[in-house]
Amino acid sequence: MVAEKKLVPLLFSHHHQHHAPILETHHAKILNYPEIPRRAEIIREHLFGTGLMQPVLVETPMPKSEIYQTLDAGMVDYLEAISQDLATLTTESLSTFYSLKDTDPAHFYRYPSVFPQRDRIYHSHQSLMGLHGYYCFDKDAPVGKGTWEATLYSATIAHQGAGMILAGQPLAYSLCRPPGHHASRDLMGGYCYLNNAAIAATRLREMGTVAIIDIDYHHGNGTQEIFWNDPHVLFTSIHAHPEGEYPYFTGYAEEIGGPLAPHTNLNFPLHAGATEIVFLAAMDELLAGVRAFNPASIVVSLGFDAFEQDPLGTFKLKAESYFKIAQKITALQLPTLLVQEGGYAVEMLGILAEQFVSGMLSI
Ligand SMILES: [Zn+2]
Repeated sequence: MVAEKKLVPLLFSHHHQHHAPILETHHAKILNYPEIPRRAEIIREHLFGTGLMQPVLVETPMPKSEIYQTLDAGMVDYLEAISQDLATLTTESLSTFYSLKDTDPAHFYRYPSVFPQRDRIYHSHQSLMGLHGYYCFDKDAPVGKGTWEATLYSATIAHQGAGMILAGQPLAYSLCRPPGHHASRDLMGGYCYLNNAAIAATRLREMGTVAIIDIDYHHGNGTQEIFWNDPHVLFTSIHAHPEGEYPYFTGYAEEIGGPLAPHTNLNFPLHAGATEIVFLAAMDELLAGVRAFNPASIVVSLGFDAFEQDPLGTFKLKAESYFKIAQKITALQLPTLLVQEGGYAVEMLGILAEQFVSGMLSI
């Protein structure tokens, strides 16, 4: 008798398409916003073509009360409120209030302009415009009328993925978009609004301790901050060295966790141009730390921007490197939830995701 092939649940939704900023500024340039809907679509289409996946369409959003267990209610409610407010804009009001002529409100995104240093605030401020910067640490979290809907479903995809692991699935893939790992409990930024991986890890605490393995090219500053003082969640990350790369202020090796959770934070910053050999060596060290922590489950913050063709990164990983990374993670033999983060070599993302899933299934 031939054993039935186990399919990997791929959790997805179509709501992410309603969040599609067009532009970002970078130094003196105006660029196309790289975190586009096609990213998730190409991964979904490609993975479904492999025969490895079981489609799981996420149709009902998680209750906000569940999000509050991980994230700040003020920020979550603000994001909902500003999206709802933007949904009331008309072409005429854009012309009156923003001096924008003939702009389709569906394509209007509001960017934060003032980032108050919270310890220097003398007056509380309530307007949606002012609060945007209060809840952002950088300029790269623009909000449009569909942003709340997209981010709520993205969080739900992670939350439901964790639920499937709790129900006994050994492996599931949460195809989240927008990504989440730069967003902390009460700050958005870096294309991230709600921290999907952190929401998943919080839910997975039900089965014991959790280790998060973040292999996105950029340091997962938000996730690190959320679990900084939590001895039950190990955060580990391989990323570009913050000396020269976003998010600049975190990601150093000496960041080992807060006073209540020493040695539950492991950073492996690598210098620009890191090759597969360098990355895999760091991976071995990282996994030794995970084994020592002895978690009950794993969340992988799965970014693909360490790939050699990525327009935002400098690392030199090849497509097959993702197979090898996954092979090392699956050797832990622990229930594992994959949570989509970055990756901007859009046309290659499906192939990279297939490599990773194949690696996870190789043992
Ligand atoms: Zn990234």
